[in-house]
This record gives sequence, C-alpha cells and structure tokens, in this order.
Amino acid sequence: MATPGELTFAAPRRAKPPRHLADLAPAERRAVVAELGEKPFRAGQLASHYFDHLGGDLERMTDLPKASRAKLVDALLPLLLIPVRHLEADRGRTRKSVWRLFDGATVESVLMRYPDRVTMCVSSQAGCGMNCPFCATGQAGLTRNMSAGEIVDQVVAGARMLRDGEIAGGPGRVSNVVFMGMGEPLANYNAVLGAVRRLTEPTPDGLGLSQRNVTVSTVGLVPAMDRLTAEGLNVTLALSLHAPDDELRDTLVPVNTRWKVAEVLDAARRYFDATGRRVSIEYALIRDINDHAWRADLLGSELNRRGRGWVHVNPIPLNPTPGSKWTASDPQVEHTFVARLRAHGIPTTVRDTRGRDIDGACGQLAAVSS
Ligand code: SAH
Repeated sequence: MATPGELTFAAPRRAKPPRHLADLAPAERRAVVAELGEKPFRAGQLASHYFDHLGGDLERMTDLPKASRAKLVDALLPLLLIPVRHLEADRGRTRKSVWRLFDGATVESVLMRYPDRVTMCVSSQAGCGMNCPFCATGQAGLTRNMSAGEIVDQVVAGARMLRDGEIAGGPGRVSNVVFMGMGEPLANYNAVLGAVRRLTEPTPDGLGLSQRNVTVSTVGLVPAMDRLTAEGLNVTLALSLHAPDDELRDTLVPVNTRWKVAEVLDAARRYFDATGRRVSIEYALIRDINDHAWRADLLGSELNRRGRGWVHVNPIPLNPTPGSKWTASDPQVEHTFVARLRAHGIPTTVRDTRGRDIDGACGQLAAVSS
C-alpha cells in the first residue's frame, strides 16, 4: 500500500494537464459547452478570444454573458503556462522563455525574429527519453508528455509577446513553428498532431499558420514517421541523422539500435513521395566524431541513392552543453564537409547558432529552474 508521502510524490506527475480548448477539435468544444448548459456557439466565441485575440482575459469577453464567463473560461481556457523567466539575445530579437506547467514540470520555448519571418521553437515533452549524449535535454530523461494545449499555448504566448511589442523590431506575428524544443515530438504523437492541427486551422478555430511553415523534427521513429506520412499534411519533416553509418549513429542517437540509418532514410523518402515536401536532414557537426570528409561523401551517396531533389542537409555547429567533452568542428572542417555535400548535388545550409549565449540554441534546452 502506498504511504501518503508516496502519493503526494507520485500523483502530480501522473495527473493530466487541465483540459483546454486547444486540446479539442471545434465540435468537441461545442459539446463541452453544451454539457455546461450553454449555447454551443459560445465555443466559437471562446476560440476567437484565444486564437484571434491571443488571450483569456475575462474582462474583455464582453460578448459572453457575464454570469457564464468564469465557468466557460474555467472549462476551456485554464492557465497552462506560468512564466518563470525570459532571457534575451541578439539585441532582443531572440527570446527564450522558461515555463512552469501545472504540476511543476518546466519546459522552454524560443522565439527567433529574422528579417523575413518569426519562428517559434516549441517543446513537446518535459524532458526527453531519447538520450542522445550530445544534447542537454536528453541528459535529464523524460518527465512527461505535454498536452496539445500546452504545446499550442507556447506559440500563443509568443504571438502575444510579438503583438504587444515586447520583441525588438516592433509588433509582429509568428509565421513559423518548429517542433525542435525539448522532447521527441513523434513519441508524443497524438498531442503533437492535435497541436499541428490547432496551429494550422484557420482562425477562429485555430491559429491560422500555413502547414508549410510548421516543421516536425524527429530522431527517426519509423512507424510514427509513416503514420505522419499517412496524415496527408503539408508540414515539413526534419530528421536528426548526425551520422550516415550505423556504427556511429548507434552511439549518437541511441534509438538507431532499433531503426537503422537505411530504414529512417527510406521512411524520410516515403514522406517526400507522399507530400512533395523536401525533407531536412539535421547533422550536428562534432569535432573529430562525425565531421570527416568521408562521412560527408557517404551521406551524399546514401541520400542520392534514394533520388534527387528530395532532401536538403542542415549541418549544425555543435552547441556546448554542460559536462560534454565534445565541441564544434573546426571551421575549415565544417567548410569541407559542406563543400563535399554540395559536390554531390545536395543543397546544404549551415544552421545559425541563435540563442547560444542564453542556452537557447539546438540541444541546449534543459529548463533548470534555478
Ligand atoms: N527530438 C527531436 C526534436 C529536437 S530538435 C529531434 O531530435 O529531432 C533539436 C535538434 O538539435 C536535433 O536535431 C538535435 O539532434 C539537435 N541537437 C541536440 N543537441 C545539440 C547540440 N548540442 N548542438 C547542436 N545540435 C544539437
């Protein structure tokens, strides 16, 4: 039998995040509202407050009967993210936010403003269970899956900061979302898919982003990749490859012992065949580990073996993480790696290291609360 102490320790982690309208499709929201004894169209009004007006401020919901406002907001717009702190870089154009969830778990999101777009990098899990040794998130293990509402709310929070002029460069809008924060999105499939739908449904039912501007990144969970292929969405798929050979990839991306390089590349190619969306291959360049010219050649030929024009490569200079003995490749080595890939005809662009000085770059999100 569990002692009370164990119960208080275990219960919060198992409890589900409060239900939010972003967890639900529009018809489900109407059903919840009807169960409360309210007119179903109130669900649309609530959704408009959330997705059009980016908030759940009771006082401003003057289109809802005063007597029902609190009840409706409690049922469908609970507070999901409590800001712990915001850190800024790039003269205010990059902002990392640390959020506390209802059960005390912490996650991070990063807003990045570029001349032509604003990208929100969101977390899909508190922690991560994939255990890649060069990634800070992987070192702490998995705390729990996030709900669709918790995922979407990171984007809505970023949209609000932009609208309110909190981000250098003046008021703006979120144009892109990348599932490249904490967690393995395809290990939390249903919530991530729900979030993708909410983000891309036209307002007021959703946030109205273009599917093309949403990127889901994965370590290569092949069955889930195939499931995503079958959804018929137009989102971009990114694959964290990091090595073209199984011997090395087994150590850098441990799930490779389950699904091999050839299997994940085949699955990525099937995604392209079904969607016509060019797949993005992520490759963190780690000095003397995976940055050899012969590995660039092997990667080029493995990709070309599966056709032309279906893929591009995004080398990422390794970002430093606590306790890691690895560092980024020498610039000359990086240059050669990129040149070799291009010589194979593979479009290749090195990813910037935005947010590195605030531990907000790829692989640095650890959400330490102190
Ligand atoms: N779990 C998913 C989503 C995270 S995306 C995935 O792995 O694809 C984050 C990207 O940053 C992944 O490509 C990841 O491998 C990469 N990354 C992790 N640690 C890094 C580091 N220290 N430097 C550069 N990139 C890193």
